[in-house]
Amino acid sequence: MASVDPALWERIIQHVVTQGGNIIRPWFTQLEPVSLEHGLLEIQAPGKRELDYCRRHATSLFTEAAQAATGRLVGACFLSPAQRRNVEEGTYQPVEPAAASAEESVPLGGDYTFNAFVTGPCNRLAHAACLAVSEGPGKTYNPLYIHGSVGLGKTHLIQATCRKILERQAETKICMLSCEMFVNHFIESVERGQLHEFRYRYRHADILAIDDIQFLSAHEQTQEEFFHTFNTLYQSQKQIILTSDRGPGQIPDLEERLVSRFNWGLVAQIDRPCYETRVAIVQKKARLRGVDLPEDVTCFIAGTVESNTRELEGAIARVTMLAQVTGRTIDLLLAQDALGGPSAPARREITIEDILNAVTARFNVRLADLQSRKRSRSIAFPRQICMFLARNLTRHSLEEIGGYFGGRDHTTVLHANRTVENLRGADPQLHATLELITQELHAKA
Ligand code: ADP
Ligand code: MG
Repeated sequence: MASVDPALWERIIQHVVTQGGNIIRPWFTQLEPVSLEHGLLEIQAPGKRELDYCRRHATSLFTEAAQAATGRLVGACFLSPAQRRNVEEGTYQPVEPAAASAEESVPLGGDYTFNAFVTGPCNRLAHAACLAVSEGPGKTYNPLYIHGSVGLGKTHLIQATCRKILERQAETKICMLSCEMFVNHFIESVERGQLHEFRYRYRHADILAIDDIQFLSAHEQTQEEFFHTFNTLYQSQKQIILTSDRGPGQIPDLEERLVSRFNWGLVAQIDRPCYETRVAIVQKKARLRGVDLPEDVTCFIAGTVESNTRELEGAIARVTMLAQVTGRTIDLLLAQDALGGPSAPARREITIEDILNAVTARFNVRLADLQSRKRSRSIAFPRQICMFLARNLTRHSLEEIGGYFGGRDHTTVLHANRTVENLRGADPQLHATLELITQELHAKA
């Protein structure tokens, strides 16, 4: 198998570092090039979650980087460590069986502990409240509602809280999941006639922790269900913890009775970290990753990246990756090369129109047919592909996507997504077509 020339990998990483913007994650330093052969660059991701992330968000970044570094039409794809072994043994399967999303609860992983959380004026209240809840669940603030914009530590805090509760009381039944998982689980349970199991599961929890509750917006039926779950748990003094990107009253299309319940306990907001907190965060993250950052580099990073903590982490990763592949020591010059260069131009977002154009061209169907209620396979299948692409490449909700295609509801979109996902796993031709369309869409965006 053709291994990847280290000098080439270095050029690829340099491209990723300068162009990757907020796609970059701290564990990118653990990506390993496996092979470059027949126009395909295979990269190993360190674990399952990282693999999912790369496939969803980093494929086009690495494809662009590989094309820029080689000057050829190379595609990038990601493998898990197990798949890599299979590649080496010649038993490679391109797609692993998809896990049933709703059954999977969020693993309490990584650095998401109280010890790893840096406090400052921006998050002191939220942190103290979480700590209090972890020490006396159901007794202090119920519900606890944490809100703030993206990348400011909401998921970190909710996970740290649940983890601490488990450490103190290992038998506690904790349901911790994203709101999207809750909604999907509810929809699936209704479809399969398993509402009873659904209710049992959530109404018998000791702790219900739901991340990104704003996702309930406009899911009327799930709101109704959640309302009853909430009441049951609240009445038996079980702890409820919620996070959101906005305050309770600012979630569009959220029933008033839920808004008022969200305000019953404590609502704590997290703001963007100030400079001193950013310095402390950079120091802590570098220490956690075993990276030695000189003081001037720490200050440079904290001074350059102001938006949120996730981007601070991304900046440390960029600096580390550049040092790793070039063999340079980490100093101010290197940090400037990693962060200071011309920043990646903001990508235009892919729109549903772009997807419609690409699919109508490739599958030779008319736009009007895609948006009609016709069900013949020659139309239904391209329509499902549009829904799949819209679900994976845009931020539109399931309802919005359904709305574009003749007012179909969200379960149709979910179904289309699953169908295409399954077919793709079984059909390399379809897999390649989807990759190609995705690349074209990114190239135009
Ligand atoms: P959110 O859920 O608010 O979008 P996350 O909890 O996912 O944000 O945080 C993004 C990243 O920033 C995570 O890796 C998290 O560990 C880190 N982070 C955020 N705030 C802090 C903090 N105060 N101290 C340490 N790390 C933080
Ligand atoms: Mg989050």
